Amino acid sequence: MKADYDVVIIGGGHNGLTTANYLAMGGLSVCVLERRHIVGGAAVSEEFHPGFRNSIASYVVSLLRPEVVNELELKKYGYEPIPLSNSLYPDLNGDYLLLNEDEANNQAEVAKFSNRDYDALNEFYEVVDQVGSIVSGQWLKEPPKLSARGIGDLISAAKLGVDFYKLDDDARHRLLQLFVGAPITLINKWFESPKIRAMVAASCTPANYASLHQPGAAMAMLHHAVGELDGQKGAWGLVKGGMGSITQAMAKSAMAKGVDIRTDAAVKRVVMENGRAVGVELEDGDIIRGKAVASNADPNRTFLQFVGEEHLPEGFASDIRAYRMESASLRMNLALSGLPDFACLPGTSVQEHHKSSIMFVESAEQIEEAYLTARSGKPANPPFIEALIPSVLDQTLTDEPETHVMSLLCKYMPYDLAGEQTWDDIREQVAEQIIDHVQKYIPNLRDILVGYQCLTPLDLERKFGLTRGDICHGRLEPDQLFSARPHPDAAQYGTPVPGLFLCGSGAHPGGGVTGAPGRNAAQRILREMK
Ligand SMILES: Cc1cc2nc3c(=O)[nH]c(=O)nc-3n(C[C@H](O)[C@H](O)[C@H](O)COP(=O)(O)OP(=O)(O)OC[C@H]3O[C@@H](n4cnc5c(N)ncnc54)[C@H](O)[C@@H]3O)c2cc1C
Repeated sequence: MKADYDVVIIGGGHNGLTTANYLAMGGLSVCVLERRHIVGGAAVSEEFHPGFRNSIASYVVSLLRPEVVNELELKKYGYEPIPLSNSLYPDLNGDYLLLNEDEANNQAEVAKFSNRDYDALNEFYEVVDQVGSIVSGQWLKEPPKLSARGIGDLISAAKLGVDFYKLDDDARHRLLQLFVGAPITLINKWFESPKIRAMVAASCTPANYASLHQPGAAMAMLHHAVGELDGQKGAWGLVKGGMGSITQAMAKSAMAKGVDIRTDAAVKRVVMENGRAVGVELEDGDIIRGKAVASNADPNRTFLQFVGEEHLPEGFASDIRAYRMESASLRMNLALSGLPDFACLPGTSVQEHHKSSIMFVESAEQIEEAYLTARSGKPANPPFIEALIPSVLDQTLTDEPETHVMSLLCKYMPYDLAGEQTWDDIREQVAEQIIDHVQKYIPNLRDILVGYQCLTPLDLERKFGLTRGDICHGRLEPDQLFSARPHPDAAQYGTPVPGLFLCGSGAHPGGGVTGAPGRNAAQRILREMK
């Protein structure tokens, strides 16, 4: 491995690997330094119990930009998406909603709860799609500077204005509500049945830690409208072998282009000379020099830990300290000796509902209660939970036939706990509470449970380097997005530190397995280094 590179990348998450690929395609020499033994960051597959593997952090794909898939030839290197078209919403009272690609089925399913809400859902998603397409149109573009003075900034701001201008009056109103409104306003306007209200409320929670009454929190509803899978708009899927297959494919693609990837290489600090980033020092004392440094780590870690406030403009440093990071998420992976037998849809042979994304949520009020509980420093009990049984669609995840893995994303679970207890004290107790709760929907759960992994917000921070357990490298709220992500002086991937760039989810367009910040950052770096 060479000691000097054009660009040194801190972190081998999917965005760092994406940046590495594009920079190498642009003819630069690149080195990726990853602190863990494996690349992938939060898009990783690991054995969490002997014989049981899973996407242990992120678990569904849709946001990954098709441009990244094609340009990095990810399919050639092993990326294989598996469509996930069903969604199940079971209730404790035995009711359920099972949606799939069949409109007649969906109409009948929603009619179990309301005569009006099926049409309302269609109207609502039409608006969300319309607004979502404006948002996704911005994902692979550098956001305009807030302090725009140049002709380029003027043109990009004008282009965005044209997109808004094309919307009809009602869509403009809805756009405003989706961008800066509270989810509850939209839910109250469109939906009457508690079941559909719960479903829509839950749709804006995975990347949020917010009250349903919080202005700005509705924006997360759009996150689900901007995705696609294999050309199908709005579709979600699994990845054969887990999400780690995406990042392994990215790593193989990068290595084929000559990128050096070093694992077990934790960066301690960015080396500064004459006010410029000129490389990094590893925890073991190695210094690796580069003409530029790109950080895939989150903004807090990058600026406050690796660079240090003494090298930052004062106002910038205090803004980064105030940048909000927390998603109040707890992730469990369950190893199962058999198939979950749902109370609402009994049976232990694979049926449609097993091949679904599953949302254990009783009502919009439960989501609000979970938020308020977490805000008071306590884990929500019960939490609302997004679940999956990926092994039903991907048999590569377990060694033995008929065994399964189940993913649970449980919310809200605060990073800061009230009182003296730490997450290390209560991890097991909270995991057991969660299992007890899921067992109410799946009565055979404890009979088939052979092991589990519980990643609390603190574990997400320790394992993946996600400050305060934030799964998106910073809350996705209006003042932390677009031209202000993570700060107006660092929103175009360059930073106030000459030679230092951001290439991770803390930059536009934010979190999720998208490849977008990585691709945009590479374009910026290539422009600056040519
Ligand atoms: C529990 C969970 C569930 C999620 N679910 C989904 C989902 O289903 N679908 C979806 O699209 N998104 C999901 N997300 C969000 C998504 O996974 C992340 O936003 C995204 O993967 C972040 O990618 P990244 O490359 O920007 O950063 P990361 O994946 O965080 O990568 C940053 C890398 O930098 C490394 N690093 C940090 N510090 C150092 C250091 N000092 N030296 C060297 N390396 C360092 C880290 O180890 C890591 O590999 C989820 C995230 C989590 C945690």
